Amino acid sequence: MSSDSGVYCYSAVLMGSPVQLKLFEDNQQLAGNVFRLIKQQEDIFTVNRERSQVMAINRAAGEHAVVVSRTLYEVIKLAKKVSTLPGSCFNFTIGPLVKRWKIGFQGCHVPAASELRALLRLTDPNQVILDDVAASVFLPLAGMEIDLGAIAKGYIADVVRDYLRQQGVENALINLGGNVLALGNSVQQPWKIGLKQPFAADDAALGVISVTDKSVVTSGIYERYFELDGRCYHHILDPQTGYPLDNELLSVTIICDNATDGDVWTTLMYGQGVEQGLATLDQNPGIEAVFVTRDKEIICSSQRQFSFKRLNDGYRLID
Ligand code: ADP
Ligand code: MG
Ligand code: MG
Repeated sequence: MSSDSGVYCYSAVLMGSPVQLKLFEDNQQLAGNVFRLIKQQEDIFTVNRERSQVMAINRAAGEHAVVVSRTLYEVIKLAKKVSTLPGSCFNFTIGPLVKRWKIGFQGCHVPAASELRALLRLTDPNQVILDDVAASVFLPLAGMEIDLGAIAKGYIADVVRDYLRQQGVENALINLGGNVLALGNSVQQPWKIGLKQPFAADDAALGVISVTDKSVVTSGIYERYFELDGRCYHHILDPQTGYPLDNELLSVTIICDNATDGDVWTTLMYGQGVEQGLATLDQNPGIEAVFVTRDKEIICSSQRQFSFKRLNDGYRLID
């Protein structure tokens, strides 16, 4: 724990990411409860361990349905809905491809094109059978695997926000591996959240996003990637091709009311790119974005829910 002008900062490493909690009181017990809550949730969602409810669904692929907790069921239902929207690049059945590439883990490599083609047959989200009454999930083909990596952190950030509110906390900040939830304000001013400079060795910021009571979720290709023969292979895969999504984006940040939506929308915007993404956001006034491109541009959508200040002259700001 560290304190600076009345802000108490607690940190941990959870879900493979640094997690930070900022409070306006020295309350180690509350921080401990928050970290335990995140751990409990991680134990439900993870696909990187032997056991979790999600692993149980994956293990039973091609064999039988698995009954899961109501909350996990609702997240899976949402993930299926988003995955089956026309043109969506979000696909929660992308697991077999994620496992094959191992991006961000030891043994990452470029799989053979024929292998990817074969695995693509196991990634049709329409095939997942959900039963609302039993809260059960069935993957009908052996080898199918769900992966909630593009929504789980956002969902868990919302769980933490609800817990903090229940505990009477009005102002706080939780950063769950790039999924930031700002409750209320900082000291007499909005919370200021740094937008990372892509591929910077340190924590250099391109700019600052100021918000009150919002979630600010960032997904960048610089977070998990490997390089081979001058190409960068990052961790957000194109469900059409099986390869990492290839477009002008280095990062997308979504500003909206809740982190689950923020997490879903970062992935959706990745698939659409800047031009189409801005048009989609125009139709969805509650969701706003900051795009950072390979051409060193920072492009803000409408800014009703946040303000942005650029800190790095090397990037052009377009808003
Ligand atoms: P971040 O890891 O930066 O939060 P995302 O929220 O986009 O980024 O989640 C990326 C994770 O989601 C990957 O590590 C993988 O587990 C999974 N994933 C990869 N590609 C897709 C996709 N097209 N749709 C849904 N999930 C994906
Ligand atoms: Mg995410
Ligand atoms: Mg996401």
